[in-house]
Amino acid sequence: MGESVTVIFDFDQTIIDDDSDLWVISELGLTHLFNQFRSTLPWTSLMDRMLKEVHSQGIAINHIADCLKRAYFHPSIISAIKSAHALRCDLKIISDANTFYIKTILEHHGIWDCFSEVNTNPAFVDEEERLRITPFHDSTLSPHSCHLCPPNMCKGLVIDRIRGSLPENKRRFIYIGDGQGDYCPTLKLEGSDFVMPRKDYPLSNRIFSDPKLVNAEVHEWSSGEEFESILLKLINKLAIQIKM
Ligand SMILES: [Mg+2]
Ligand SMILES: [Zn+2]
Repeated sequence: MGESVTVIFDFDQTIIDDDSDLWVISELGLTHLFNQFRSTLPWTSLMDRMLKEVHSQGIAINHIADCLKRAYFHPSIISAIKSAHALRCDLKIISDANTFYIKTILEHHGIWDCFSEVNTNPAFVDEEERLRITPFHDSTLSPHSCHLCPPNMCKGLVIDRIRGSLPENKRRFIYIGDGQGDYCPTLKLEGSDFVMPRKDYPLSNRIFSDPKLVNAEVHEWSSGEEFESILLKLINKLAIQIKM
């Protein structure tokens, strides 16, 4: 039914309730150090720096994975993702977290295979067994010219790439997010698309500060139950429109 529908999810505070970067930092007791470095480094470098500290304290990568597995994941959001996948929607993630955090959490909840694509900052394990995070866009070159987005990632560019890769009749999007970084991709949506901002979070506040700038139809959600019911309703609506 949903073959022609692409659902694009932000990850932190959208799929999972918390921010995975901040969750790991607080679970490992590094909040104080994080606050010290916060204003001095761009986000991806800051996370890489925090993981250097984790490594130097002798904390193993599987301990980081255990923290991630404890992050709260609303059961209705898990079931929404499974249902959207079963309806044959194409599910993708665009996130400013990293490949290791996202894969660890989604595998733990048995839904990694529901997603066709995860666009995020690459993570790798170096020769010292230290987890490293690198920016999604190479920051040594001028990464992108978007003034709305941080240097390491413009989510709008990813939307452009995805839209360009799809045949005309499959370019129908539902975008779900919460943060400032989700505003640029929201502006890339068209009148036949939907955006689901998390209510009272920066994305919804930004959208409603000047709603006429957004072409897509806006549907806010607050709880996991609302997330599930609204997403399934919108998939249905798009599928019917496409058939007509
Ligand atoms: Mg987010
Ligand atoms: Zn952008």
